[in-house]
Amino acid sequence: MTVIGVLGLQGAVGEHLKQLQSCGVDAVVVKKAEQLQDIDGLIIPGGESTAIRNLMDRYGFVEPLKSFEQPIFGTCAGMVLLANELSGTEESHLQRINIRVKRNASGRQKDSFEAALEVKGLEEPYHAVFIRAPYVEETGDGVEVLATYDGQVVAAKEGNILVSAFHPELTDDHRFLQLFIDMVNSSKLTVV
Ligand code: GLN
Repeated sequence: MTVIGVLGLQGAVGEHLKQLQSCGVDAVVVKKAEQLQDIDGLIIPGGESTAIRNLMDRYGFVEPLKSFEQPIFGTCAGMVLLANELSGTEESHLQRINIRVKRNASGRQKDSFEAALEVKGLEEPYHAVFIRAPYVEETGDGVEVLATYDGQVVAAKEGNILVSAFHPELTDDHRFLQLFIDMVNSSKLTVV
């Protein structure tokens, strides 16, 4: 059975667990770096990226996550944490995907909003929920853009790393999460 972990330091952990379970996946909360050995993929949830980073430091997650080989899906704050670069003077964290991210970038928009997105790999539009969302300012070599909103990249993938500026765990539509589950299953098939 496929086991997907949700990094349980801060943020929307329970919502991801529920959605994984409703997709028939074995979902576990990851609170210790040793648990990374027992999972096939990891979700870094939305929340407050600075708080998650501080807890990652405190519980020894940074180096293990830089070298974690299985797929990782970062939603919102998780996307901020996975980016190679952050806009402005902020230091980047895990540097796992070749994108530059601007935090809290909704700008003149409301803090939270919803939008129907065209997502690569999904046939029908996907209803996305954004909460104080970051967006991708620039994508580098090897990065596949999966969705844009208002001309800005809000979902992308590079190798085993998937990111979204929105919160797939807050809707009943499981199709975006399923894209990640498919990545995890196919990476399991290639690692024998
Ligand atoms: N703005 C938050 C951050 O950068 C992310 C918001 C979210 O995860 N909903 O940490």
